[in-house]
Amino acid sequence: MNRLKSLFMLGLGLTFMASTALAQLTVTDWAASTGPLFPHSGIIEGESEMGLVDTQQSKSEALRLVADLLEKGKELKWVYVTHPHLDHFAGSNIVRQFFPNARFYGPPNANQEMAYQVRTRRLPLGQGTPGGANNLPETAPDYFETVPPNNQLSLNGEPVEILFGKGDHPDSSVVWVPSAKTVVAGDVIFNRIHAFFGDHSDIDGWIRLVTRITELNPKTVIAGHSATLNPSGESATLQLQWLKDLKSAMAQNDTASFVKAEMVKKYPDYGNDFIFEFSYMVRKK
Ligand SMILES: [Zn+2]
Repeated sequence: MNRLKSLFMLGLGLTFMASTALAQLTVTDWAASTGPLFPHSGIIEGESEMGLVDTQQSKSEALRLVADLLEKGKELKWVYVTHPHLDHFAGSNIVRQFFPNARFYGPPNANQEMAYQVRTRRLPLGQGTPGGANNLPETAPDYFETVPPNNQLSLNGEPVEILFGKGDHPDSSVVWVPSAKTVVAGDVIFNRIHAFFGDHSDIDGWIRLVTRITELNPKTVIAGHSATLNPSGESATLQLQWLKDLKSAMAQNDTASFVKAEMVKKYPDYGNDFIFEFSYMVRKK
């Protein structure tokens, strides 16, 4: 009897392992085709359910993203926004029009911070956006929820985990998809692009979150902004070094000109070197 029982248990175990393998999630790196910021989103797919990470900046990019989501023919179960900066959440109203049953999640205080961003940054950001400010949302989303207390969402029964911490916004987070060994990193990790650091001064907190990500040993990292089409795990290690170098340059001489000169010398092939002046300008306001 006992032997039969253990064979039965073994059978169950094998069935479970087989179904786990079948349920593996896939993640697609979806990049905006227009500037000025060219943000990246992540589409996570299970067999019949999908999740979207970050909803793009402009209405037009959100519509292109929605078109690709519709063609997948799967249920959009949830949308997760990594941090409340316009280039990552402004397309949410459009996505919600086409997928009214999806639940929208974000870091704590997302609704409040999104309202502030739409009020103060819509017009300046509109200047560099194709179509101008009319291509950005007039009303801020007020429907974002916080994630369950275990920081976990799921798709077809497979877990998707949220890690919170600092990025280019003080309330940042990344999405970790264990079955795909993939991180959708929002603006915690930039790929060969200098990052904005004007919204807070907790560089140590940012270093802690990127360290946690490198410890997961991700195969793929979808950075919020990328100079390459290669979302490899290497960008987490590079971002960690970039942050340590930024911290050390700021400790030597906390001025835009010095920090920029040091960082450009160390990372000559990185894009967006205007971000040093911009970050210092915003910090000093
Ligand atoms: Zn961004």
